[in-house]
Amino acid sequence: MLTVEDINVYYGAIHAIKGISLDVPDGEIVALIGSNGAGKSTTLRTISGLMKPKTGKILYEGHDIAGVPAHKIVGMGLCQVPEGRHVFANMTVLENLELGAYLRKDKDGIAKDMDDVFKKFPRLLERKDQLSGTLSGGEQQMLAMGRALMSNASMLMLDEPSMGLSPLLVQEIFDIIQNVHKEGMTILLVEQNAQMALSVADRAYVLETGRVVMEGTGAELLTNERVRSAYLGG
Ligand code: ATP
Repeated sequence: MLTVEDINVYYGAIHAIKGISLDVPDGEIVALIGSNGAGKSTTLRTISGLMKPKTGKILYEGHDIAGVPAHKIVGMGLCQVPEGRHVFANMTVLENLELGAYLRKDKDGIAKDMDDVFKKFPRLLERKDQLSGTLSGGEQQMLAMGRALMSNASMLMLDEPSMGLSPLLVQEIFDIIQNVHKEGMTILLVEQNAQMALSVADRAYVLETGRVVMEGTGAELLTNERVRSAYLGG
């Protein structure tokens, strides 16, 4: 569904991504793990059109989307849930969800997806008229995921969904990720929580200083000695 071929990305003179290639097959969960500064967020931002690679290709459903503006990429069904949630704090839960459907015109489809989001996240229904800035961290993460689902995406890119959440909430968010996946969503997941990410991922890539240094199935990497000592606490 998504193929990244040898992309190089710079922030000014800083060479942040040094020839990364990866594949996300239709219907799979693919994880990117690695320590701070490895280039995980930059990779996602480049795929979602917020940054342009200097060289390389990004093929989404056969179209080269490298350098295509972000809103057009969302319109093609590829939607990012950014790190730190980025919900609109001064708007209600309902208004944030409606914004997720901003590019859509199919009123019936939008209403159906709103129902589905409220079924998946009953807590958002209870709080639909609450200002989003007053939600807890876990609820904001749910809202960010719900908002992305409102875009009628075929593939979601999640940037550190577990960040700042208690272990119980991390489990809840990962259960939701697996449910969304079971319903057919393709997912590219960036996580510092390598244990959780590898346990749900069909395939995963390990990034270090802007390069892919290892790849394999989630199960293979979970038992890999090097991954265990560097990312899973031994
Ligand atoms: P983290 O988990 O800490 O977010 P990451 O793997 O997502 O790390 P990136 O945020 O993609 O890593 O950063 C990759 C590299 O690019 C780092 O060396 C970082 O310092 C650099 N970088 C990121 N954003 C910028 C920026 N706006 N300007 C300059 N350099 C940047």
